[in-house]
Amino acid sequence: HTTSRPPPTPSPLRFSKFFQANLRILVTGGAGFIGSHLVDKLMENEKHEVIVADNFFTGSKDNLKKWIGHPRFELIRHDVTQPLLVEVDQIYHLACPASPIFYKHNPVKTIKTNVIGTLNMLGLAKRVGARILLTSTSEVYGDPLEHPQTEAYWGNVNPIGVRSCYDEGKRVAETLMFDYHRQHGIEIRIARIFNTYGPRMNIDDGRVVDGLIKLMNGNNTGPINLGNPGEFTMLELAENVKELINPEVTVMMTENTPDDPRQRKPDITKAKEVLGWEPKVVLRDGLVLMEGDFRERLAVPKKTKA
Ligand code: NAD
Ligand code: UDP
Repeated sequence: HTTSRPPPTPSPLRFSKFFQANLRILVTGGAGFIGSHLVDKLMENEKHEVIVADNFFTGSKDNLKKWIGHPRFELIRHDVTQPLLVEVDQIYHLACPASPIFYKHNPVKTIKTNVIGTLNMLGLAKRVGARILLTSTSEVYGDPLEHPQTEAYWGNVNPIGVRSCYDEGKRVAETLMFDYHRQHGIEIRIARIFNTYGPRMNIDDGRVVDGLIKLMNGNNTGPINLGNPGEFTMLELAENVKELINPEVTVMMTENTPDDPRQRKPDITKAKEVLGWEPKVVLRDGLVLMEGDFRERLAVPKKTKA
């Protein structure tokens, strides 16, 4: 290939550097569900400064309220489709609505966020020499023809469907990441996250976040699958929720939405080997945590039997 500069040699000191050095870290989409848990983890290290850039489309200041006013924390209302000038050492690039309801609401905006937003963050990484991590998704596998999915699978994605703004948007984002890596020597990391749930929603007790921090500070570019290989059908999920919330309710069957993958399950061999990461929370326990959080937020007490 004909790159002007070879990719940098990964430094084995990087991981320990994360714990020792004073790093200024940008988290785009840091007011969202995964981003706010990530910010909590990053702020635990007293040497780090954290800057969040978020347009509050699906995220909220409330998720970050415990950090607002903290001397090591800064919150910027910013849309990543616009250029951003800050000086940072690491960029966790999460900005993008993750739930189909939201990303289908304005599909053109979703694809701009994925493509122009990622381009801008790569331009920023290039200018300041920062390492950048992209939170990609299992949706890049589309409606998979291989099961379970390893990172080597190229996917089966409809390029013109109603989900394409997200699926294809993330695929282009991954392409941009690798092109900036090969062409400009940018240090990149890509996580492919599988559906994640929980309080705020709670993300497997914060474990996806551990995976992201390990990936950022390790030596492997990825892509690396982060997800739970425990498989269940939607009916099993519904029955579990019913039993937990209210055994009286009836489960209704409805048409699936277009292009929704029929079956998906991550192969996480690579995450285990490279990051020493695997999820720990089983569905039943995760649902209990989520129920408590949702009841509190919606102020709906649990009915106790008399
Ligand atoms: P979320 O919707 O809670 O968070 C996304 C955040 O990005 C929000 O705070 C939102 O306001 C912000 N945002 C959206 N568009 C923006 C823009 N143009 N400029 C600036 N900020 C913008 O979603 P999440 O579940 O926390 O997901 C975070 C990342 O992880 C996303 O990139 C998503 O694609 C990826 N991911 C999530 C899951 C999951 O199951 N939650 C699965 C796979 C991948
Ligand atoms: N960019 C940014 N912040 C920076 C540097 C660049 O947002 O600190 C944006 C810039 O506006 C451009 C994109 O990143 O749209 C890509 O930048 P790059 O330098 O790779 O490309 P060029 O500006 O040469 O097209």
